[in-house]
Amino acid sequence: MRPTRRPSSVLVKHGMYLLTYLMQDFVCRLYASSSTTSDVNELRYQLFCAERAEVESSQLPPCKDCLHMHVLRTNYQTAIWRRCLVSEPVVPDPKGCGWTTVDDGSLEIEWMQGSPAPDAVLQLMSCKCAHICKLPACVCLENQLKCTDMCKLQTCTNQRSEDEDEVAVELDESDTDDEEN
Ligand SMILES: [Zn+2]
Ligand SMILES: [Zn+2]
Repeated sequence: MRPTRRPSSVLVKHGMYLLTYLMQDFVCRLYASSSTTSDVNELRYQLFCAERAEVESSQLPPCKDCLHMHVLRTNYQTAIWRRCLVSEPVVPDPKGCGWTTVDDGSLEIEWMQGSPAPDAVLQLMSCKCAHICKLPACVCLENQLKCTDMCKLQTCTNQRSEDEDEVAVELDESDTDDEEN
């Protein structure tokens, strides 16, 4: 069997950084060929302003966080296809490669690692469900967001768990560390 070469974690991290930059540049060209930015978040803002906010979300490029997760899934799928001629391929765990497992053990797409919007904005989101939060009436569920303290019903199943609160705090802290470096 062919020995597998494992690049160091520093190389992997640097490679992912470069890949994310190149992907951003490519995606910016797809959505706005004349754009001078290679930052998808910046381009989202520019397009949003240029259309005077009258823009469907599908007309905007994915944000950097979503794009990064998409690149992870693409990389994973490519790795599977590269093994297509191997009779019993060793398949790595998709968890952490843009997918996550839910309570019943099934796989679910992990769309993003951070928040879909700044906390100040999320805290203003609320639904007016009276008895139960369910689709299509609940705006929180429709936008794939957890219910907030502003929602009318405070006992629905769409409340954020304490575990998720802790993860959100950890993510906020790691963001701060990056900015300091
Ligand atoms: Zn609701
Ligand atoms: Zn709600």
